[in-house]
Amino acid sequence: MTLPELKDLYQEVILDHTKRPRNFRRLEDAQLKAQGMNPLCGDKVEVFIKMNGDVIEEVTFQGAGCSISTASASLMTQILKGKTIAEAKELFEKFHDLVTGKAKDAEFHKKLGKLLVFSGVCEYPVRVKCATLPWHTLKAALEGLDKPVSTE
Ligand code: ZN
Repeated sequence: MTLPELKDLYQEVILDHTKRPRNFRRLEDAQLKAQGMNPLCGDKVEVFIKMNGDVIEEVTFQGAGCSISTASASLMTQILKGKTIAEAKELFEKFHDLVTGKAKDAEFHKKLGKLLVFSGVCEYPVRVKCATLPWHTLKAALEGLDKPVSTE
């Protein structure tokens, strides 16, 4: 695939998740939850997590935000199902490196899977906070913080 084709595909995936966000609901029996906001863009997100031991059994979100933050939250909930807390934190670090343009090699990219659709975000620094907001909120929830997190 050429680069422009790849970019179109990425756009399509992001649009699809913006229009039809996956796991977009409150999780009534969530053991962990947190709220996050990105004042710069006005994105707000709430993440709900149900654990089974050390494994994330279910993760959902609610909120209102721009297309990047919504698509990022949607893809995050899909990819985290069945992951351990350690794996989730590792993915967040990799995702952060991706959107800040620090990660380039193929081995690294393979581990990110679908999250690669956000690789273009590194060209728009102001969008990095939109893309990482759901992840910051997830981390706060996993760490049991009950204070809302802010990207600012
Ligand atoms: Zn945003």
